[in-house]
Amino acid sequence: MIICDHCKGNGYVKIRFEAEQAIDQCKVCDSQGHLDENKHYNQAWSGGVSDKLDNFYWGPPLDPESFKNYKIYPK
Ligand SMILES: [Zn+2]
Repeated sequence: MIICDHCKGNGYVKIRFEAEQAIDQCKVCDSQGHLDENKHYNQAWSGGVSDKLDNFYWGPPLDPESFKNYKIYPK
């Protein structure tokens, strides 16, 4: 089982909007907190020395530890 990197396994994300803080359901894992290895997700990471996200990948969830600035997006 792969923990959802977007919500860190919580199933929701905290959104900060000016002074307000809101809770939103995680749309990457559908509030499950984990990812389906058989599903495909939009993912991106930085490949070079800059922090620019310049690598994009559509496929099964990757290991966030292996990629710089790893991001996973809702479908
Ligand atoms: Zn999630």
